[in-house]
This record gives sequence, structure tokens and C-alpha cells, in this order.
Amino acid sequence: MENSVIKFHHCEKDIYCFFVPEQCPVCGESLSSRRLQEAPVSIPSPFVNGQKIKCSFLVKPTKGTFLRCAFIEYDGRSDLHVGITNTKGVVYNYNETGVCRDEQGWAQSVSVPLVQPDMYSLINQWDPYLEQFSLAEMWNPQRYNETDHNCYTYALTFINCVLATQGKRNLTKTEFTEKFVLPRTKKASRYITLYQEISENYFYIVDSSQQEDDNSSI
Ligand SMILES: [Zn+2]
Repeated sequence: MENSVIKFHHCEKDIYCFFVPEQCPVCGESLSSRRLQEAPVSIPSPFVNGQKIKCSFLVKPTKGTFLRCAFIEYDGRSDLHVGITNTKGVVYNYNETGVCRDEQGWAQSVSVPLVQPDMYSLINQWDPYLEQFSLAEMWNPQRYNETDHNCYTYALTFINCVLATQGKRNLTKTEFTEKFVLPRTKKASRYITLYQEISENYFYIVDSSQQEDDNSSI
């Protein structure tokens, strides 16, 4: 289970933790709830359970999970694996064994939604379309290549086929990555740093002003 991160304000600092302590870790003052100027706020996790998200692009570490096995060494560049969910939360992804249809293993993913909730005709066709796309010869295991015919090629090619059915132009890998993936993985990366600090030291403390700068960059 992932702990949830909360933030409270004291000594002109933003103090992140899993539980509000009895005393402020900066000044030592007692922190009964009446002594806090504002109630602690919870920091939303950037991760979703991929098995519960329909019609989305998902990212997770190739081995382990973002916050458990991988969080110690996760540096934002660790080996990542991507996939596409169908409407039932089955994650289609391509690797050296061909196309996998995972019903588990994506419980802590970063997601990019690919359809608006009111795109009914696309949602209705999504599962057969994804299945049919995945049967193509180009996704045979023999065609897999770690650098240029990989999980990302598979997911982006599918996204571009969907865009084509909508009469929209293709996205290059760079466009899709910079516009949709990087903002989310950067946010996840900051959350992992925060989470790791709290796991090791109970608190992560920053100047309040510094945190405002940080927010504006999201
Ligand atoms: Zn204090």
C-alpha cells in the first residue's frame, strides 16, 4: 500500500509527511490542530491503478513499481515500459514476447487519457480495434527491437491509428512525449523524491516561497 502524503505549514516552511507529528520538526512547538494556521492538505498521488483506467496510455518501470522496488534508484530516466488499456482495464503492451494482455501488474502507473468521456463511438470500437491492431504481423516477437521497434513504437502507432480515424494528423514520438508524457512523469518524479525523503527522514521541509515556485512550473 502506498502511504498518502500530507503537507502542513509552520515556521514559514511547508512540511511534508505521512502523519502530522505532535511537535513541529523545525521549532519543536506542540502541534495540536488548533495551533496550525491551516488544516493539513493531502498531496494527490500522480499514480493511478492502470487496471481501473480505460482507454489510456500507461507508463510504469519495467521492473518493480515507482514507489517500492524502483523508487530508491529511480532517477527519472530508469527503464520505463508503456502500454494501452482497453475499456476493461486490460493493458496491451509489446515486448520481446510479442503483445501481452496484462490483467495485473500496472497498479501504480502514470496515465495519459486518450479519449474524452463523451466520445461514445470511439469507446464502443476501442476493444475490437485494439485487439485487431495487436494481431498485425508487425507486432510479432521476432520484429521486437529494444531501441526502435519497442513498447513505445507499439503504443504510439496505435494512438496514431486512432487519430487517423478521427481525421487528425499523426503525432511524432517527440511531440507526444513532450506534450503528454513528460509533464506527468516530471510530476511523478518530484513526488517520488518527496516520498523517498519522507520514507527515510519522516519529513520533507522546504521554504514556503520555494514551494510556490515549484507549483508554478507544473
Ligand atoms: Zn515550527
